[in-house]
Amino acid sequence: NKLRVGLLFGGCSGEHEVSIVSASAIAKAILADGNSQKYELLPFYIQKDGIWQGVEVSQQVLDSKQPLQTSTDSDSLKAKLWQFPPQVTEVDVWFPILHGPNGEDGTVQGLLSLMQVPFVGTGVLGSAVGMDKIVMKMAFAQAGLPQVKYMAINRSQVWSNPCVFPKLGDEIEANLGYPCFVKPANLGSSVGISKVRSRSELEVALDNAASYDRRIIVEAGVKAREVECAVLGNDNPQASVVGEITYNSDFYDYETKYTEGKADLFIPAKLTLEITAKVQEMAIQAFQAVDAAGLARVDFFYVEATGEVLINEINTLPGFTSTSMYPQLWAASGVSFAELVDRLILAALERFRK
Ligand code: ATP
Ligand code: MG
Ligand code: MG
Ligand code: MG
Repeated sequence: NKLRVGLLFGGCSGEHEVSIVSASAIAKAILADGNSQKYELLPFYIQKDGIWQGVEVSQQVLDSKQPLQTSTDSDSLKAKLWQFPPQVTEVDVWFPILHGPNGEDGTVQGLLSLMQVPFVGTGVLGSAVGMDKIVMKMAFAQAGLPQVKYMAINRSQVWSNPCVFPKLGDEIEANLGYPCFVKPANLGSSVGISKVRSRSELEVALDNAASYDRRIIVEAGVKAREVECAVLGNDNPQASVVGEITYNSDFYDYETKYTEGKADLFIPAKLTLEITAKVQEMAIQAFQAVDAAGLARVDFFYVEATGEVLINEINTLPGFTSTSMYPQLWAASGVSFAELVDRLILAALERFRK
């Protein structure tokens, strides 16, 4: 009898649409020759309002690749958030492919842990650490990984007392200078991120980031090439070949990420063997520093002028569409998309084996 894989996608986050496309690609891989003999697919779609759909509706969402329109009033929503489709009890192993808050951040991992069913990817701790850029940077610093200078800021510093601001602005300018990057601490897809070059832009950017998250990070800007490495495995993780992203926009913002033709991926990146090996080593150190498992994509800045490699971030549930960096890096490393999905499920089973 086949292993029933619960593919969990959609979710309450700005990356809902990407999640649907990632899940469609994974569903196809589970049904592909080789995997279809081993696995049975049970898709579960989480609507934007947080309500779970059963396999029939979820399959329709996978087929159409379009989110369901939701219009649940807030009173019945609360009750429905505690109702799960009956088929959830049939799942042997979960494959959550939820990007961003409420899915990549440990919340769903907590729910799946309580269900006592193995799941693909990082657990509660690593997901939460990997999602919060402030705590993530603390973990990286502890592991000795070089990174940009940064400051952690709370929303209350930006909003509560206007008199705090000139001082905060002075401090940011003195510590980090311009350009700097202002980011909500717990997001992805560049949502809420601004590159700022002046005090007035800084004020607008902090206010904007504060509208997304209580926790805000401001980072010194670097001029660098952007390279990424994929990691696969549990206690002895493997690093893929290294890829590079290029684009013409000011930085790798939301529009550049999701508009066809605005960014190019180069796999493998044109780097010396030495830099490639350094990126791969740092990717594994980053994976272990946050206690990631299964998969992660680690993003770096390579400052060509100085030869420095700085870690930018880890993504514990990276984009997983057929054209996403994570599966493409593995394809270039000799692991096909379908094989990758198989290996991730096997890694989940291995991790939860007692
Ligand atoms: P993802 O979609 O990969 O999860 P994210 O929302 O977590 O992205 P970051 O990777 O932190 O955001 O930043 C997005 C982009 O902003 C980077 O790819 C880079 O182009 C630019 N950027 C961010 N921080 C810096 C920095 N300190 N110096 C220079 N560029 C930066
Ligand atoms: Mg990220
Ligand atoms: Mg992300
Ligand atoms: Mg990134």
